[in-house]
Parts: sequence; C-alpha cells; structure tokens
Amino acid sequence: MTTLFASHALLPSGPARDILIEIDGGRFTSVTPDATPPGPDTTRLRGVAMPGFANAHSHAFHRALRGRTHAGGGTFWTWREAMYSLASRLDPDNYLALARAVYAEMALAGITTVGEFHYVHHAPGGRPYDDPNAMGHALQQAANDAGLRLTLLDTCYLEGGLDASGHLPLDELQLRFSDKTVEAWASRVGEIDARPGTVTGAAIHSVRAVTPGDIAQAAMASADRPLHVHLSEQPAENHATQAYYGRTPTALLEENGALTPRTTAVHATHLSERDIRVLGDARVTACFCPTTEQDLADGIGPGRALADAGARLSLGSDQNAVVDLIGEARALEAGERLASLQRGRFRPDELLAAATAHGSLGWTDAGAIAPGMRADLVCVRTDTVRTAGADPAQILLAATAADIDSVWVDGVPVVSGGAHRLGDVAGLLSDAIGELWADS
Ligand SMILES: [Zn+2]
Repeated sequence: MTTLFASHALLPSGPARDILIEIDGGRFTSVTPDATPPGPDTTRLRGVAMPGFANAHSHAFHRALRGRTHAGGGTFWTWREAMYSLASRLDPDNYLALARAVYAEMALAGITTVGEFHYVHHAPGGRPYDDPNAMGHALQQAANDAGLRLTLLDTCYLEGGLDASGHLPLDELQLRFSDKTVEAWASRVGEIDARPGTVTGAAIHSVRAVTPGDIAQAAMASADRPLHVHLSEQPAENHATQAYYGRTPTALLEENGALTPRTTAVHATHLSERDIRVLGDARVTACFCPTTEQDLADGIGPGRALADAGARLSLGSDQNAVVDLIGEARALEAGERLASLQRGRFRPDELLAAATAHGSLGWTDAGAIAPGMRADLVCVRTDTVRTAGADPAQILLAATAADIDSVWVDGVPVVSGGAHRLGDVAGLLSDAIGELWADS
C-alpha cells in the first residue's frame, strides 16, 4: 500500500486541505481531508493534487507538424496537405518512436488516458502490413512505454471527401487510411490485441469520409464501445453536406444511429440550434480542442449551449500543436468569454470535469480522487512564477503544463519532480521528428 499526503486537492466534494490518500492495487482505498500531517515516512505531494487528465482527441503523428506550418499563411485545407505528406512517411517503427515521445510529452502534461483517433492503418498505397494492425499495435506499445492508458479509436475512413456532387474517391495519400469496406474495417478492428492499459474503441472519421449507409453499419459494429466522430469542424463540411444530402452533418449522424451516450462528437464547432438540441438530447460528449481550433482557424464552438442542452464536454489536444490540457480548459472558457462578452461561463469544477472525462474513452473508473477509482494524480505546483499567489481552488486558471510536478497513473509514479521516467523527452521528440523530415 502507498500512503500520500497533499496540502491541497481537488476532490469530488470540492477543494480540500490536508488530504491523506491511500492507494492499493492501483486504486484509491481511502481519501481523508483535514487529516493530521503524517510523519516523515509518508510521501508528501507538491502543490495541488487533482485527478489525472483525459486527452479525448489526439492524432499523435501531427506533433511532427508543430512549428512547421505557419510560413505563407494557408488554410485548414493547405494544412491538411502537409499532414498527408507527413502521414506518407510513417511506418510502424518510426511511428512507435514518435508516438512514444508524444505520449511521454502528454504524461508530463498530466494526461493519464489518451484517446487516439487512429486512421493511418496500412502501408503506402493501402497495402496491408503482415500484421494488419501493425500501426495500432505500435500505438499500444508507445502508450505502454510512456506509462499512460490508451483508448485506440480505430477509425473507419472510406471516402476521399464530399462536395456538392457527392463523395470523392480516395487520393493516393489517403489509400493507406482505408480498409475499402466497412465490413473489412470492422473485421480488422476485431483483430486488435487486448492489452492491459488499453481499450479498443471505434471512430467514424467524418460524414465526409464515410457514407450514411456505412455510418449506420459502423455505429452498429462499434457495439458498446466508445464511438468518436469529427463533426462540423469547418463550414465547408456543413456546406457540402447540406448541398448533397440536404441536411446538416449532425442530422446525418442522428438518422444513421451514430448519436448515443457513448458517442463523442469532436469539435462540434459550427452547429445549428437544432443540432445543439439533438446532440444534447442524445447525451453525447462534445470534445473541444480549443488550441487546435485556434491554430486551424476553425472558430469557437457553442460549449456552454451544448452543456446546457444536456451534452457532456471533454477536451483534446487533437493535432498536438500544444499539449497542455490545463491550457485547453482555460481556452474553452476564454473562447466563451470572447464570444459572449461574459466572464465565468464555466466554473473551475466544470473545467476540471471537461479535462478529466475518462468515461468518454471507456474508463468510467477514472477521473476522480475517490475510494475505488483508479489512482491517477496530477500535482500542480503553487510556487512557480506562473502560479505563486494563486488560490489553489482556481489553479486551473493560472497554471500551465510546465507547472506539473508529479503524475501518477494507476498508482504508479510516471512523472516525478517534473521529469518523465523515460528521461529526456525533448530529445526523444527531436530524434523522432528529425528522422521523419530527414530527406525533406
Ligand atoms: Zn481530429
């Protein structure tokens, strides 16, 4: 058994002081506020202890685009060309090295579960690897090495896009994303290894990349697992869907059985009032990725309105141009303030709930410091230049990922004193990214 003591913690009941925390078998066994400070044998946590963060939407390989896409302006769609070019350079070995480093960066940022929206399935040209899940298994290994849990959201991706005349064929670079049929996709997903610390979920890339009939089949095939889908990130998706199908992307998903409480709609940026009602009534989770939505000039989604309509909220680092769930939480609130001209659109505990939505990734027993829950902890320092003087109860409105001192996943310390157990994570990132761009 492990016994820890924190001067401050964010518990389900709210901010607390002098908390004695006991862990056994990877789970919290007791959490006692207002405890007498223990003797020297007990580990004292530094700063404010809070539940581990859930990164509900990641494309690990996009990390290699960070700081490389800003010359010459461009659009979401020119960014996508750069992303496809990067995807064409991936293989199971270099993807393992890159994802291991990216997931270690996430662990340093307090992320204890990552939801990986995974669509680079096959070799260039669409040829399956000897192990048809070689890329997914590389991601499982990477998460295991980096010490966090993984929900592999294996993505159905069958069409090259959508315009007013219908779906477009896959281009050369997109071929490796596709299993050709929804049945082949479901069958391959069924072959993914079950490994400790991993959950296999499902994803529909978008209404651009999957036709309505295939959406219905994919939703059915996902059974009781998490089902994620990109939704209305850019107005162009809405225009094309409206022009060809005469309805919104949300309405298409609704009609084809893809909106349930196990669904996460990623971005949900450009929604009609009806869309918001439909998503709320279906009790979906809406995953906001504010730093990506800023970077790609997507817009500001209706977070408060979705929550008021009954949707739950989660947060994702998406393209990993920034890996900082505290920053995402703050940007969720900041976007609301800018759009509404009102402060305090989300309370600090609501922002923490969005940053710890492990249930949307199939881990309903994580996300709270409470007996019986998985023993994930993030300890945020209160003595840095950014956090000194802040009220511990409002630390999410002051801190950044750089202020995180220690991270525990399932009762195991993965980050201690601001250092990851793998060592020099910046070096791992630099090596992995350098290799990918070596011949460019
Ligand atoms: Zn995405």
